[in-house]
Amino acid sequence: MVLRNIKYALKKIPQPPVTRMYPEKATELSDRFRGLQILNKSKCIGCGICANTCPNNAIRIVKAPISPGSDKKRWFPEIDIGHCLFCGLCIDQCPKDALTSGKEYTEGLVKWKHKDLLICPDKLAREVDLEEGDEK
Ligand code: SF4
Ligand code: SF4
Repeated sequence: MVLRNIKYALKKIPQPPVTRMYPEKATELSDRFRGLQILNKSKCIGCGICANTCPNNAIRIVKAPISPGSDKKRWFPEIDIGHCLFCGLCIDQCPKDALTSGKEYTEGLVKWKHKDLLICPDKLAREVDLEEGDEK
């Protein structure tokens, strides 16, 4: 058994590696990859259909400024990515096409505490750095 494994390893040495040095070398994502959702605040009407559709109850509709620094607030989705399974149903069901799939799946999304996995409307809209507001 040991000899067979050594023989197998020696046979594989000249071949190109099938693994990559993640995270230095990131995985190439397909066009259909579903990462962190992107919210278009100007399209969102705060209807809550995304929240009602979510099979994991990961969306809450919360009040947030309509744009950075604005005093005017409206209802927008906030997503708990600790519960999100990235099924994309919220995106499919949005009547205003206000949600789309982003490509982020690690950057700024790997946290120690569950509360840091709550992605507020500003972060979904990418108006605020995903790292901002984290507490260790
Ligand atoms: S993202 Fe779409 S479904 Fe969700 S509250 Fe906004 S408009 Fe409604
Ligand atoms: S992708 Fe699926 S699980 Fe995640 S928030 Fe949308 S509906 Fe819920």
